[in-house]
Amino acid sequence: MTMYDAIIIGSGHNGLIAGAYLAKSGWKVAVVERNSEIGGACQTRELTIPGFKHDPFAASHVLFYGSPIYAEFGKELETYGLKYKTATHSFASLFPGGESISAYSDVERTIRELSQKSKADAETWLELINFFGEAADGFGSLLYNEIPSWGTAKSIYALYRKLGKERFMDFGQTLAKTPKQMAMSHFEHQQVQSWFTAWAYHPDFDPNTAFGAMFAYSTMAALQVMGNPVAEGGSGKMPEAFGKMIEAYGGKIYRNTPVTKIHIRNNRAVAIEANGDVMEARKAIIAGLEPKQLYLNLIGESHLPTGFVKKVKRYRYGHAQMKLDIALDGDPGWEAGSELGNACYVHLAPFVEDIEKTAYSTNIGMLPESPLVVVGQQSAVDPTRAPEGKHTLWVQVRTVPYEIKGDMAGEIKGTDWDEIKEQYTERIIKKIASYAPGIESKILGVHTMTPKDLERENPNLREGCIGGSHHFDQNFMFRPFPGYSRFNTPFNNLYMIGAATWPGSALHGGSGYMIAKKLLKK
Ligand SMILES: Cc1cc2nc3c(=O)[nH]c(=O)nc-3n(C[C@H](O)[C@H](O)[C@H](O)COP(=O)(O)OP(=O)(O)OC[C@H]3O[C@@H](n4cnc5c(N)ncnc54)[C@H](O)[C@@H]3O)c2cc1C
Repeated sequence: MTMYDAIIIGSGHNGLIAGAYLAKSGWKVAVVERNSEIGGACQTRELTIPGFKHDPFAASHVLFYGSPIYAEFGKELETYGLKYKTATHSFASLFPGGESISAYSDVERTIRELSQKSKADAETWLELINFFGEAADGFGSLLYNEIPSWGTAKSIYALYRKLGKERFMDFGQTLAKTPKQMAMSHFEHQQVQSWFTAWAYHPDFDPNTAFGAMFAYSTMAALQVMGNPVAEGGSGKMPEAFGKMIEAYGGKIYRNTPVTKIHIRNNRAVAIEANGDVMEARKAIIAGLEPKQLYLNLIGESHLPTGFVKKVKRYRYGHAQMKLDIALDGDPGWEAGSELGNACYVHLAPFVEDIEKTAYSTNIGMLPESPLVVVGQQSAVDPTRAPEGKHTLWVQVRTVPYEIKGDMAGEIKGTDWDEIKEQYTERIIKKIASYAPGIESKILGVHTMTPKDLERENPNLREGCIGGSHHFDQNFMFRPFPGYSRFNTPFNNLYMIGAATWPGSALHGGSGYMIAKKLLKK
C-alpha cells in the first residue's frame, strides 16, 4: 500500500495548483486522474486534422493570468513550457448587415468604437472601466479568499473605505442586477445592450437572473483592461506545466486511474481506491470533483449525515452547452470586415431577446432556434495552433437542454443527442455562415461535443454544465452548500475543491490555491 501526505482526486487545474503548492513545500503528493490526459476542462487536442490544435474546453486564461498563482509561479511555469500570447482585440459582437462592436485592450480605441453607436454609451463604458480600475484589487482578491472569512470581510471593508459609502452601495446595487436590467439602465443602443448581456451567459446567467450583471461587467472589464490571454500552443500547456512542476518536486501523477472509493474510518478520510489499489493519505484527500460523484458514488449515502444527503441531492446544474471545434482553410471572412478575424472571441447574439428566447427554450427542454454562439479565434492570436494560412475556430453554444423534448424551430424530430448531433451542428454552422458568407466551403473538419459527450469526457461536466449553477442560491457562501463553502466536508482530512466550490467555474485556480494555503498553515 502506498502512503502519501496528500492525495488529489482529479487533475483539473485546481487540483494541479494545490498539488504544486504542496509538493513545492515538501509534501509527498499524488494526483490521481481517470483520463489519459491531465487538465480536466483545460486541454488541447488535434480533434479534427493533424496540425490543428484545438482547445476542446476552456480557451481564455484571463483570470489565471491575473492571479496571485501566476504572479508567484509564472517564471517557473515558463521553464515547463507555459507562455502566454495576449490578444489586444479582446472580443467583439457581430450584428446583421455587417455591423459589429469590438473591445480592445486599448481603452480609447474601444471608446471610439462605442461612440459610433452612442456617445452616451461610450461615456458610460469609460466610467465603468475607470471604476473597475479602482475596485479591481478589492474585487479580484475575493476570488482568492474563502467566503465567509476575515480575509473577505477585510477586502470588502477596504473597498468600502476606498469608494465611500454611497459609491460602494451603488456598486453593490449595480452588481446585483440581472444582465438585462444593467444593460437597459446603463446603455441606450440596442447593440451595446446585447454586447453587454451576452457575456453573462458564459456561465448560466441568462438576461433575467439576478447578479448576472456582476459576471458580465467583471469579465468584460478584465478582458478589456488585460487583453485576452491564451496559452501558446494551446490551453493544455497550463496543466502540463503544473504536472511537470509537481513531478519535479517529487510528486506522482497517476493517469488512467479512476478513483472508485474513498475510505472513511472514524469520520476521517484515510485512503482511496483506484484500479484495485489502495493509496493512503496521511494529511489530506483533496477531491476536485462535483458533489454528487464525490459524496454519493465515492463515499456512499450510508456514511453521510441524513441532512447532508439532501443537500447533495439538491445540488443543481445550470444550462447545458455544446462545443464545436472547426479546422478552417483561411480566416472566417466575417461580413463585418477582415479585422474581426483578429478578435479573440466573437459573439453572435444580435439581440437581448435572442438570449432570452434561448434561455426560455432551454428551460422547457426545447432546442433553441438560434442560440448564443461564441466563436473563439485563438489561432489568430497564436499562429502555432494551425498550419500556415489556416485557422482553428473554437465554438461554444450557449445554451441547449440536456434532455431534449423538442425543437423550437420544428425541424429536428429526434430527442437523443447522439442522434441529432449532426443536425444541430449544421444549425450552428448555418448561423455562423450568416455572419461569414461562404465559410462552409473553407471548413476542413468539424468536431462536435454535445452535453452528453462533455459529461462522458469529464464527470465534472455533469449534465453538460460547467460545475453546477452559479445563481446566487448556489454561489458565494452557499457553494456548494451552506456550511461547506470553505472546502470542508463532513469528514476530517477530506476537502472538496474545483468548479463546484467557491469561486466557481473558470480558470482562476482559486480553490486549489486556497486549500493549499490553508493546509500549509495547519
Ligand atoms: C466547453 C467549455 C469551455 C470553457 N471555456 C472557458 C474559458 O474560456 N475560460 C475559463 O476560464 N473557463 C472556461 N471553462 C470553465 C473551466 O474550463 C472549468 O471551470 C475548469 O477547467 C474546472 O476546473 P476544475 O479544477 O474544477 O476541474 P476539471 O477541469 O473539471 O477537472 C476534473 C478532473 O477530475 C477527473 N475526474 C473526475 N472523476 C474522477 C475520478 N473518479 N477519479 C479520478 N479523476 C476523476 C476528470 O477526468 C478531470 O480531469 C469552460 C468549460 C467548458 C466545459
